[in-house]
Amino acid sequence: MTPIGHELGIENVSKRFVLSDASEVTAVRGINLRVAPAEVMSIVGPSGCGKSTLLRMIAGFEKPSAGRILLGGHPIVRPGLDRGVVFQQPALYPWLDVFDNIAFGPRMRGRPKNQYRPQVTRFIQAVGLEGSEHHYPYQLSGGMKQRLQIARVLINAPELLLMDEPFGALDAQTRLDMQELLLQLLQEHRPTIFFITHDVEEAIFLSDQVCVMSARPGKVIETFQIPFERPRLYADVAASPDFAALKLKILSLVHRKKG
Ligand code: ADP
Ligand code: MG
Repeated sequence: MTPIGHELGIENVSKRFVLSDASEVTAVRGINLRVAPAEVMSIVGPSGCGKSTLLRMIAGFEKPSAGRILLGGHPIVRPGLDRGVVFQQPALYPWLDVFDNIAFGPRMRGRPKNQYRPQVTRFIQAVGLEGSEHHYPYQLSGGMKQRLQIARVLINAPELLLMDEPFGALDAQTRLDMQELLLQLLQEHRPTIFFITHDVEEAIFLSDQVCVMSARPGKVIETFQIPFERPRLYADVAASPDFAALKLKILSLVHRKKG
């Protein structure tokens, strides 16, 4: 079973918020992006440039003020099981143990227990949580919680995975481990991925395309194609001269002075 992600199309999307004093904030303006099936796109850009707003519109939590967002050619109008969302702070059920947190999705979909049990066990192994099946979220480290969160989302085989700075709260070593784990998990199930990060190296390592956004109102400044073959190992990619050159180019755009 290898479900392949769907194409994501963002067409001329703008989002304006009207505040309580009737003033308006334009979070993003005129965004056009295309992510091919099973590709990974990362978004980098200054804080407040509308990255999370864009992700929430793709998730269906917010509606664009203009433009439209298509998944597999169909407009997104509401949240759906075809999309999995991973935030920086893992959304876990504190009253369920590791096994039941992962089993939650299949159970909600009415899958019979004998069918999802082996699948949950496989995901526990895949994210390295064996031995912690019966621990509760409060008993897990930050890295373990984030691994649990990813297992919980991937078991639903989403066509699109939306990740908003998922590793931002982790220490440097755990973050590298999580990046490699994510790539490894994707060998098997290959959703399309929309990934937000502050970390330019992380963006390059994980992605097929890296999109740099300007300060608010967020617009696309430039999108870079990332040439490294998959499967990737961090040490190999980081040692390549192409990596250093891309990193420098992207960083200079992210830190570009306005005006
Ligand atoms: P980023 O994720 O790039 O840091 P956000 O998407 O969180 O940026 O925010 C972009 C801008 O939109 C910010 O100025 C933020 O204050 C504003 N914003 C986001 N959500 C809302 C909302 N629900 N109501 C009003 N303004 C919002
Ligand atoms: Mg954000």
